[in-house]
Amino acid sequence: MNRHGEVRSASEFKDIFEDTGDSYRPYRCPFCEVSYEDRCIITECVKAPHFKLPDGTSHREGCNGEAGDDSSPSVNAPSKTPKRTVVGGIELPEALVGRRKAQPVRKPGDDGLGLPPDAIEVARRRKSVAADKTISSHYTTSLLRAIVHGYRRLRKHAYDQATAAKLEKGSAEYNECFRETLNRYRLSLYGQKLTYGTAFQDSKLTPWHVERVYSGSGKIRTEADYLVIRDADSWPKQFKSKELLPFEVKLSRTLAPNTPTSHLQAMEELEGLAAMGQDIEWHAYGLPLLQGERFELSIDSLDHFYWIGQHRQ
Ligand SMILES: [Zn+2]
Repeated sequence: MNRHGEVRSASEFKDIFEDTGDSYRPYRCPFCEVSYEDRCIITECVKAPHFKLPDGTSHREGCNGEAGDDSSPSVNAPSKTPKRTVVGGIELPEALVGRRKAQPVRKPGDDGLGLPPDAIEVARRRKSVAADKTISSHYTTSLLRAIVHGYRRLRKHAYDQATAAKLEKGSAEYNECFRETLNRYRLSLYGQKLTYGTAFQDSKLTPWHVERVYSGSGKIRTEADYLVIRDADSWPKQFKSKELLPFEVKLSRTLAPNTPTSHLQAMEELEGLAAMGQDIEWHAYGLPLLQGERFELSIDSLDHFYWIGQHRQ
């Protein structure tokens, strides 16, 4: 829970920090309001974002840091770290998920500055917060950017592994080793259970009829209602076919009224790049559709689009 009394997972707080630069520290247990130390939320480090109960402190009034009805200890307590995936000294996100609204837990008018909650209030809060174990026990993100950064780190790691095994770049053994490394790391895309080896796709393959993280590079141009990136490469129309088709990514220039500030900034930056006729190296999550004689990938949220060099907080 942040200083406004909003309950989120540590991963979600990390997304918000990366997106906006706001941390709303200090963090506390949402139920008994004991202070938490934040780990890997505003700093990049080996472990996934999590909270830690400072040494020598404990929860109070029957709280164990978990939502629910009982006070039995649970494996998901924030001070314990589940088994994690670490590559190149940095933990990899395990899932791309949708943004969620924060859950406020304090009673109206409670600013968290008064007396700590009593046992009755702790019990009320623990019951009111819906426990979402998938979200709290895994390193998730709603920003494609975090996934792309993990992917780039993992590819470097796969390259190092293949090189260390003295495999010749481009040989069948090298490719096999590279692929095996990528496939060892799980990555869920909105519930599709994939790996870092299967979640990404570029122009070497026919676009699947499913959502994946597609990538390429090309010029960005402005149309009346859209920004359009035409990929520099053509993509195979069908599996193993020689017929190649253009591939375009479409972003609506109209953003929703309650759109995050980071999306407004991204759109402004993209408009500038389009005006200069710049090439960008893009990544986009979505479903490309065959529109006549070209593929078209419409992006529904700027959370699902990232280009190399995008401004970061
Ligand atoms: Zn607590």
